[in-house]
Amino acid sequence: MTNEPHFKKISLIGVGLIGSSLARVIHRDGLADEIVGCARKPETRDAILRLGLADSVTDDPAIAAEGADLVILCTPVGAYAAVAKAIAPALSAGAIVSDVGSVKRSAINSIQPHLPADVHLVPAHPIAGTENSGPESGFETLFEGRWTILTPDAGADKDAVERVAALWRRTGSMIEIMDADHHDRVLAITSHVPHLIAYTIVGTATDLEDRLRSEVIKFAASGFRDFTRIAASDPVMWRDIFLSNKDAVLEMLGRLNEDLSDLQRAIRDGDGDRLEAAFARTREIRRSVVEAGQHIPPTKPGNGTT
Ligand code: NAP
Repeated sequence: MTNEPHFKKISLIGVGLIGSSLARVIHRDGLADEIVGCARKPETRDAILRLGLADSVTDDPAIAAEGADLVILCTPVGAYAAVAKAIAPALSAGAIVSDVGSVKRSAINSIQPHLPADVHLVPAHPIAGTENSGPESGFETLFEGRWTILTPDAGADKDAVERVAALWRRTGSMIEIMDADHHDRVLAITSHVPHLIAYTIVGTATDLEDRLRSEVIKFAASGFRDFTRIAASDPVMWRDIFLSNKDAVLEMLGRLNEDLSDLQRAIRDGDGDRLEAAFARTREIRRSVVEAGQHIPPTKPGNGTT
């Protein structure tokens, strides 16, 4: 067991909101002798160096992974299989491969088959984020007071799991270990379906006739504003999340549709008791979220946006 995680070389494949926030903590706390950042676009690589997020950059995941004792995939999950295939021949014996993806079973299925037997896979998902993307959008306090869920297989190397857990603890995160399928069902209802609802509402408003649409924007201060923030989240990342967590999202959407129909019927029937009882129940849930300290969205210091 180690409370002071230290790595010789950490490779971050993808250095956007999440990868750059983690890089800031690794750099701040000296958790690695060397940090390498990998990104496809020259402007992303320039930004990584300009912001001091890594000691070196490359567009080749294999070069990034060479000699690393920890490689963390921080790209959209749809890129995982190609990245895992590319890094596999370059990985050292005993190296740890981890990730930050929002869906875990498909992450494991995409990565595991490519890894040599002497490499440890420790999947992770920090439950923290904003609607912004890219290396500039990250900040070192993003994970403070948030949960990071690890979903290692039952037979995973305990030391490797503890090293990854210790790294995330240094970000200020709390750790939960969970089965990957269970993670995907929990996140389907707490994160994925809410995003789908936001994308739908904002899309519906966009389809309204011109006059109504301009009024929607003008009077957005009501509930609509929060939906527009969520619906501004990265399209590629969210495309990949829905394609990767299809079964759990469809299951939760089925339940949501039933409950929505129930409320629709209550409104049609003028059943105020039914509506009040439903809303009183959800108010209690909000109280529990506040009590758990999970009600304030992460905010980039000095930015004012989430
Ligand atoms: P992001 O800000 O868009 O960053 C993605 C990074 O990956 C960029 O550096 C991008 O740079 C690079 N990249 C994209 N496709 C790539 C590919 N095919 N090969 C190599 N590099 C690639 O995304 P993010 O918000 O940090 O999300 C990253 C991961 O974190 C996702 O898997 C997401 O599910 C997970 N996550 C996100 C949040 C959130 O709220 N945003 C929260 C928790 C977990 P180039 O385009 O230059 O390659």
